[in-house]
Amino acid sequence: MTRSCSAVGCSTRDTVLSRERGLSFHQFPTDTIQRSKWIRAVNRVDPRSKKIWIPGPGAILCSKHFQESDFESYGIRRKLKKGAVPSVSLYKVFKYSSRCTS
Ligand SMILES: [Zn+2]
Repeated sequence: MTRSCSAVGCSTRDTVLSRERGLSFHQFPTDTIQRSKWIRAVNRVDPRSKKIWIPGPGAILCSKHFQESDFESYGIRRKLKKGAVPSVSLYKVFKYSSRCTS
């Protein structure tokens, strides 16, 4: 099964082609505090419960949501630094909440 990025509006899939293009895919941290930071950054709402979306065991984010400085290089492989939080190209739901659209 092909996994895809969990960020809202991002459809990057974890494929050989994506990886050849230099993208990497990162699972949500297991550390509770770090994990909740990622969940807040992703800012996704579960369409069924209307509550904050909680990532499943296979949930991943692609490297587009991290800054270059969030990575550490190990030879040709790169790894996210400890404490890195996604901050790029993420859906900002609260930014427009003050505008009444109804
Ligand atoms: Zn993505």
